[in-house]
Amino acid sequence: MNDHPSQSQFLAYFDDELPDAEKQTIEHHLRCCDHCKAELECLRRALPEILDALRESLLRENPPAPKQWKPLDELLRETGEPSQNAPATQPSKPPGARPKGSPNGQ
Ligand SMILES: [Zn+2]
Repeated sequence: MNDHPSQSQFLAYFDDELPDAEKQTIEHHLRCCDHCKAELECLRRALPEILDALRESLLRENPPAPKQWKPLDELLRETGEPSQNAPATQPSKPPGARPKGSPNGQ
């Protein structure tokens, strides 16, 4: 007998996200594995709760509060900076060196 499908496989199976081959494998396995049949039945009953829990944990990790975005923003700014050893004062563009509208001058 094959390995038992994992819980996430069952969830994907419920969600109809599995390719046909994998779906058939699971269905075939279910036909000859009482353990997984019971497990699937349990999952089917608990599915709404599982989805709720998943949604909740997702919300907890990514709360819609704008505060959560600040660290990410800073992280992006840090990684986007080419030289971290540069002095605190960034080289400022000399005023008037470039004519407006043409990025590289002449
Ligand atoms: Zn099984």
